[in-house]
Amino acid sequence: EKLVYLFHEGNGNMKETLGGKGANLAEMTRIGLPVPYGFTITTQACNAFYKSGKIIPTEVEKQILEALNLLEEKMGKKLGDPNNPLLVSVRSGSVYSMPGMMDTILNLGMNDETVIGLAKLTNNPRFAYDSYRRFIQMFSNVVLEIDSYFFEQFLEEKREQKGYTSDPEMTAEDWQEVIKGYKEIVKQQKKINFPQDPKEQLFLAIHAVFKSWNNQRAIVYRRLNKIPDHLGTAVNVQSMVFGNMGDDSGTGVAFTRNPSTGEHVLYGEYLMNAQGEDVVAGIRTPQPIATLKEEMPSVYQQFEETCQLLEQHYKDMQDIEFTVERGKLFILQTRNGKRTAQAAIRIAVEMVKEGIIDKKTALMRVDSDQLNQLLHRRIDDTVDRKVLAKGLPASPGAATGMVVFNADEAEQLGNEGKKVILVSPETTPDDIHGMVAAQAILTSRGGMTSHAAVVARGMGKACICGCEAIKIDMKKKQFTVGDTIVKYGDVITVDGSTGEIMLGEIPMIDPELSEEFQLLLSWADEVRKIGVRANADTPEDAKKAFEFGASGIGLCRTEHMFMDLKRIPIVQKMILAESYSERMEALEQLLPMQQGDFEGIFEAMQGHPVTIRLLDPPLHEFLPNKEELLVEVTKLQMTDPQSDELKMKEQLLKKVRQLDEFNPMLGHRGCRLGMIYPEIYEMQVKAIFYAAAKLAEKGMKVKPEIMIPLVGHVNELKQMRQLVVDTAIRIQEETGKVIEYTIGTMIEVPRAALTADQIAEEADFFSFGTNDLTQTTFGYSRDDAEGKFLQAYIDNKVLPENPFAVLDQDGVGKLVETGVKLGRTTKASLKTGICGEHGGEKNSIDFFYRIGLDYVSCSPYRVPLARLAAAQATI
Ligand code: ADP
Ligand code: MG
Ligand code: MG
Repeated sequence: EKLVYLFHEGNGNMKETLGGKGANLAEMTRIGLPVPYGFTITTQACNAFYKSGKIIPTEVEKQILEALNLLEEKMGKKLGDPNNPLLVSVRSGSVYSMPGMMDTILNLGMNDETVIGLAKLTNNPRFAYDSYRRFIQMFSNVVLEIDSYFFEQFLEEKREQKGYTSDPEMTAEDWQEVIKGYKEIVKQQKKINFPQDPKEQLFLAIHAVFKSWNNQRAIVYRRLNKIPDHLGTAVNVQSMVFGNMGDDSGTGVAFTRNPSTGEHVLYGEYLMNAQGEDVVAGIRTPQPIATLKEEMPSVYQQFEETCQLLEQHYKDMQDIEFTVERGKLFILQTRNGKRTAQAAIRIAVEMVKEGIIDKKTALMRVDSDQLNQLLHRRIDDTVDRKVLAKGLPASPGAATGMVVFNADEAEQLGNEGKKVILVSPETTPDDIHGMVAAQAILTSRGGMTSHAAVVARGMGKACICGCEAIKIDMKKKQFTVGDTIVKYGDVITVDGSTGEIMLGEIPMIDPELSEEFQLLLSWADEVRKIGVRANADTPEDAKKAFEFGASGIGLCRTEHMFMDLKRIPIVQKMILAESYSERMEALEQLLPMQQGDFEGIFEAMQGHPVTIRLLDPPLHEFLPNKEELLVEVTKLQMTDPQSDELKMKEQLLKKVRQLDEFNPMLGHRGCRLGMIYPEIYEMQVKAIFYAAAKLAEKGMKVKPEIMIPLVGHVNELKQMRQLVVDTAIRIQEETGKVIEYTIGTMIEVPRAALTADQIAEEADFFSFGTNDLTQTTFGYSRDDAEGKFLQAYIDNKVLPENPFAVLDQDGVGKLVETGVKLGRTTKASLKTGICGEHGGEKNSIDFFYRIGLDYVSCSPYRVPLARLAAAQATI
């Protein structure tokens, strides 16, 4: 098996074997760029190393020595030859780029003899000794595992002693003293002499680089970026070129386009008289690449041409490392550059215009997950920020507002038109109304999948979670960070993209769908074959959704309309009603309000379909909290036992207790409400048809799709359908307006999916409610699962992902697929969609496309993401 490749033997497609760096070094060699020659030890060799218990197998050793011979021949130098020494770098490089995570050693081959030879040969003793001391420091740190602090400390003392401010002032003699000191440090720390045999140095270095695949930061990086652990790293052994040979030498890094904005200009930094690690280490401040143009015009021109060539060759923005040795340019690395969402979009679109890539390639160049960065109000980056505390960046976007400490206050002030930020140790489903009213949510407990985080992301609201630095005192209504006190009503600004909290107001900018972004999305619309709708409950959300390109509303939840502070007393009256007539009275009051809501939403959607789900949550969600009520009643019993208030509260408590459920998620909710209280659904249907008629009168088109939630048996739908049809006929006759409408159901319990052929008899459409379907399929209650065991399941790889965020294709997905198939056997024209949170997640969208759904529906802020992901699914 071939385990070592000389650069000219490989090519750019061999990333799996040679690693990204090795493959690109080979490719650049192949196309004739000035790359210092060398060879690459394969990732397979790395895996063999681990298999044999972290020992370099003899076969690998043999092939390395053969390659080294060829390298020496080609360079006309020999490793360890005192008269003409070859020096090499030993560089890590895995399949996926993991910048700076693994180790690299430069100037290998230096020892007490070769340093003298190098000094003579180059006629530059200062350079030779500088290189030697660099090598000792790096080798000792990476291979011998001596903390670099000892060396830095020593060097600094030396510098001070000599009265210098920077390294370039050091002379050859100074460096010789440093080398002596460095060797002492090695002896002290490791009780050995610094290894002098270059071959020994080489194998120790290769050993260390293999090992660095499993250092802590590499492991963490892989976990964060979902890179498999078994890949291993390749090792590149490359002849050195020197940027530290004087003022006609230097080293730098550049992007072929601006990685932050995407602008088509060379973007980078370099340092004169320096070696690679200096740029990153921040010992000296590098200069912008543009000044190289003045200092070394011909080198700059050559570099610019090389950049262009590389970009054309790889057809993507490149991140390039280079070194200039005595006026001669060398390229040491190239890779596709990492970039922000903004830059990704601009680069993709401009590359199409420049004829470098086609539209489909452009669509694949933008990671839909990254788009979130662009779709929320955000802090003006040009303004300095003073950070008070930092938590988890749970939901992007930024917001300024007054601090409040509970959901009711948030709602109250929110309804008064004030901007508030809800601060709480954590949130629960009881806090939804406050979250709706708040600009942002800040919690001191809980992680990225906590209730607050999930709900905020769904709402497209900024959220910071688990900010343990803030100490909340709910009684005093304040929180403290160190000795800063933030009281109820104080204004703060939060940045959900970074997790930062700041005092006072900080200027913001609106999310813009840039021209390029819109263009890219229009290309996405050309190729995608699955519709994208939005989940929207209010006219504002509907407008946003429409603006972002939704082709309809896939889910309009009517209960949010009931939560409104002004309506809740009427809703309560309806729930508490002792008789039918009493209930009807309350419903009559609610009717015009609901009608108004629907008018607004229909209007915003301008004739596009709107799926309206009839009331879904258990009724007690609209009633006061049981414990709190009990406290109030007990208090009144002692202070004012005769009062009317007590009587009313006691009655309320009785009703709350009646409605109390052991397991509300599986309790009296969804269509089960409509079955027992048909008058509630009837009122909602009336409101829909009155609203539709009103718009029709104005000459506007309306397309309501009425959706019955939580159906598990076809008979439920049959009965509810009849109710809707009867009501619709009545209202249409009354208003004289004929409305085009359909009736469908949500598929969100397994039985519905499994009997979809029967259910389809009564349905014009199915909308898969994958949030509830995930709960009912796994038998998880989401709020309990996410708080208690789900994270451990994911950490221990019991589950690959949070199934509430990424659809479980094997289980829940199979039910969806089954439901679609069965439904269509009964009714070929059945329209199918999904309206869970998965409708805005790229892997899930890919799945929904493959099983042939007609559309996905997601939160308005995710619509652009879904349009792009839907296009990517087809490419
Ligand atoms: P990383 O993966 O951390 O970027 P590299 O292997 O790319 O590590 O090495 C870091 C830097 O070391 C390079 O950018 C380059 O400046 C310098 N370097 C590596 N190999 C050589 C070489 N053969 N000659 C000169 N400089 C080198
Ligand atoms: Mg590099
Ligand atoms: Mg549901």
